[in-house]
Amino acid sequence: MNPIPAAPSGTRAPSAPLLICTDLDRTLIPNGAQPESPGARQRFAALVSQPGLQLAYVTGRHLELVQEAMVAYDLPPPDFIITDVGTRILRKGEAGWQALEAWTARLAPDWGASGPADIATLLADLPGPYPQEAEKQGPFKLSYYLPPALTPGPLLSSIQTRLQARGLRVNLVHSLDEPRQLGLLDILPARASKRHAIEFLLAGLGLASENCLFAGDSGNDLEVLVSPIPAVLVANAAPEVRARALALSASAGLGDRLYCARGGFGGWNGCYAAGILEGIAHYHPELVA
Ligand SMILES: [Mg+2]
Repeated sequence: MNPIPAAPSGTRAPSAPLLICTDLDRTLIPNGAQPESPGARQRFAALVSQPGLQLAYVTGRHLELVQEAMVAYDLPPPDFIITDVGTRILRKGEAGWQALEAWTARLAPDWGASGPADIATLLADLPGPYPQEAEKQGPFKLSYYLPPALTPGPLLSSIQTRLQARGLRVNLVHSLDEPRQLGLLDILPARASKRHAIEFLLAGLGLASENCLFAGDSGNDLEVLVSPIPAVLVANAAPEVRARALALSASAGLGDRLYCARGGFGGWNGCYAAGILEGIAHYHPELVA
């Protein structure tokens, strides 16, 4: 893999660089049911502009929707964007955002000669899932809605079995669109996930897990939340996600790598940016002093 140029070094010790990776919807973007503590997002933006810190957005959105959100919510400009649930890694180049082709090349073998349209055809007769809007589909991402009453377990097994039989290796990511009470299902190449993409990025930057901090709120963040990467779950996360994340990280012996924001830091409620800041304060108190 081509090494990724590091950010210009600043006043922080070059031995301890930090890459802050955050999910967007309902993690940095306050588009959930809970209120956002006034000033938290602005404080986050000021914090990540410190020299020596790098910022990556890690999201299910595609690039254009990330850029829309950056304008609509006045989000700080990131150094990297991991879009489409980890299927694309982009870095800012002289000609705008450029995908890391090495990552795409890593994913391609999982689907062999099949493209998303072939996979959709293979699954067309399954009752329940229906395709999300065209703009939410990608070359390595098929996205479906699931009816709220559907228990996802059996459906996911039959999708897995059916695609495996065709030699496809897939990663199925199920999460919940809480406000709309809809199930969401992403079918990705087996190697594609937010966690694998972050680890690929870290390796390219020559950084260890300890030089990273991840923030998330929901099902498609779970794999990173319970990984060796230090992580914070924002306080607006659903109680089921919190319970699951705590149980999985404890059983993996990684309980010290998951912090659940509870509110209080800065007098804030621990939701969205306030939760991310609370997590940064937990792992790196010197940064928020
Ligand atoms: Mg989210």
